[in-house]
Amino acid sequence: MPTYNVENLRRDFPILERQVYGKPLIYLDNTATSQTPREVVEAIEQMYFAHKANVHRGVFSLSQESTAMQEAAREKVRAHINAASASEIIFTRGTTEAINLVASSFGSFFENGDEIILTVMEHHANIVPWQLLGTRKRITIRVVPITPDGSLDLDAYRTLFNERTRLVAFTHVSNVLGTVNPVKEMTDYAHSLGVPVLVDGAQAVPHMKIDVTDLDVDFYAFSSHKMYGPAGVGVLYGKERWLEAMPPYQGGGEMISHVSFKKTTYAELPFKFEAGTPDFVDIAALSTSIDYINRIGLPAIAWHEHELLQWTTDEMMKIPGMRIFGTAPGKSAVISFLMGDAHHYDTGMLLDKLGIAVRTGHHCAQPLMESLGIEGTVRASFALYNTRAEAEAFIAALHRIAPLLGV
Ligand code: PMP
Repeated sequence: MPTYNVENLRRDFPILERQVYGKPLIYLDNTATSQTPREVVEAIEQMYFAHKANVHRGVFSLSQESTAMQEAAREKVRAHINAASASEIIFTRGTTEAINLVASSFGSFFENGDEIILTVMEHHANIVPWQLLGTRKRITIRVVPITPDGSLDLDAYRTLFNERTRLVAFTHVSNVLGTVNPVKEMTDYAHSLGVPVLVDGAQAVPHMKIDVTDLDVDFYAFSSHKMYGPAGVGVLYGKERWLEAMPPYQGGGEMISHVSFKKTTYAELPFKFEAGTPDFVDIAALSTSIDYINRIGLPAIAWHEHELLQWTTDEMMKIPGMRIFGTAPGKSAVISFLMGDAHHYDTGMLLDKLGIAVRTGHHCAQPLMESLGIEGTVRASFALYNTRAEAEAFIAALHRIAPLLGV
């Protein structure tokens, strides 16, 4: 199995040396955002100190440098997800904006009475944009349920299609259950009925190799800050034929070809969807984070995270009253749990006192919580820099707080 020296690699992340309440920080909220290695922060610094100039605007050298860096980053992203062309890579603020872009622009093709299919495990980012579209037109949202282990019910999925279905939109990996959904199988089925597919890849791209050409999805969205990159930038991949046909999402500079008060024409792809000055600083740094991930290798990262997941899950199950939500085979390294009748918030607070950062609450997935019959969970999630020693400290902490929680 591929492997790497996690202790050496941790030195790339200065924040991991921090203490919280006098205890070494154990950062287990990687699903919400991952930490950033020194070289990515240095790439930001380099951009500010050596190259900063607005992109696509200047004849002068600095502007050409920053433009070249942004476009090199676009090519890096293209290669990383194996898109056919760099013009299919749109830079956005994140996954949320990418999905809003599709809902607003692609959604303009929908007519009253049309339907879309989502799943019950969606993040609010892949629910609310469609509901907003529904305030402008009468759109029916059909929802794929889950089975007891947190897998999508694929038989139910197939029954939700009809002649009014215009799009299927679902997450690749659940940010609560860790379930890895069968994107290819679901896409093949949707395509066999002529229905395009959008995939929310926010929780997949940091952990597994994504090949949008092989998956054959129509749209794929993800965020830089979850893949060891800077905050404030994300990506929408879209098949060229859709992006060509879709109207612009926002208007302004950068996205036009010619403006007059009589008629404005739009820029070529991908710029048609990038109104205003893009976050060219963070876009360049995202490129560095992709290099960082590739140097370690996604198979090695996946293996490391899986080992931590397996060991931690087995140990957690030995704790009386422990309930883990999401046990699908091949799941990602996310563990959502509740201890006895303890409130998730109390569990999270006590763990914080021991230096352990976990997320508590509904994780922006309230419909999923409702279907599970709970208000929230505690969620621990692993990244490439977490260690077995940290997992052991987490388990020891759970044993220590259990009596305090009345478990
Ligand atoms: N989808 C999923 C599955 C997520 O986990 C998240 C982030 N928690 C998002 C979408 C939204 O990502 P962002 O806030 O970076 O736009």
